[in-house]
Amino acid sequence: DTRHGPILYLEDVTVSFDGFRALNELTLYIDDGELRCIIGPNGAGKSTMMDVITGRTRPDHGAAWFGQRLDLLRMDETEIAGAGIGRKFQKPTVFPHHRVVENLELAMAGPRGVWSALGARLSGEARDRIDSVLKEIGLGEAGHELAGKLSHGQKQWLEIGMLLMQNPRVLLVDEPVAGMTHQEMDRTAELLTRLAGRHSVVVVEHDMEFVRSIARQVTVLHQGGVLAEGSMDEVQSDPRVVEVYLGE
Ligand code: ADP
Ligand code: MG
Repeated sequence: DTRHGPILYLEDVTVSFDGFRALNELTLYIDDGELRCIIGPNGAGKSTMMDVITGRTRPDHGAAWFGQRLDLLRMDETEIAGAGIGRKFQKPTVFPHHRVVENLELAMAGPRGVWSALGARLSGEARDRIDSVLKEIGLGEAGHELAGKLSHGQKQWLEIGMLLMQNPRVLLVDEPVAGMTHQEMDRTAELLTRLAGRHSVVVVEHDMEFVRSIARQVTVLHQGGVLAEGSMDEVQSDPRVVEVYLGE
């Protein structure tokens, strides 16, 4: 069997808060190297899904696997991040008083190495890695600027770059284009498309125009489960999806 199989696999995952089911028997497969968009109205369970994958929330029942071997429900947040699942939250969380390159150095060192990373002599290999990530995220000319001085869009790209320093297999990205200009949105679409293939990329996003510009495969969540799955054209012409969005 030469198929890659899913890199990420949730089966019948249920999460309840005081009896309310934020996720209700959610089943989802993400293939290796794919770019998947997850859409759905507010409260559909998108962030809770990311919380389950990253070990922040434990489901009442269900299964969650990373590749064929790693049972995410037996791992904690640090282990999951270390195993190769990187998450970008909605608000950028760069270190504003450090330069762009220093942010990437800190990200490469990881949470345990932060205090020794700055000022340490970088190996040639580390330098090359930082340079290539800088180019990848379009900040090749901004490496020596303070991260706090970057535009909103540039901060989001830097944060994606910080995730890339850990060389993750899966990137989970929550609402990357909120607050971006159209031009920044186009560049973000281009960046995420470029990253897919080398990584699996899962994007939660509200902006439909943006989703249309990047997505090959779209999953619509509603009331904690999958309402529809397919191309953007397919899901947008699905009467159940139309009804859910008109009801917002
Ligand atoms: P989305 O990200 O799709 O907007 P969420 O996953 O944040 O949705 O939330 C799904 C539902 O679960 C919402 O109704 C939300 O109010 C509820 N919820 C999420 N987290 C908690 C929590 N920690 N305690 C209680 N209810 C929560
Ligand atoms: Mg959310």
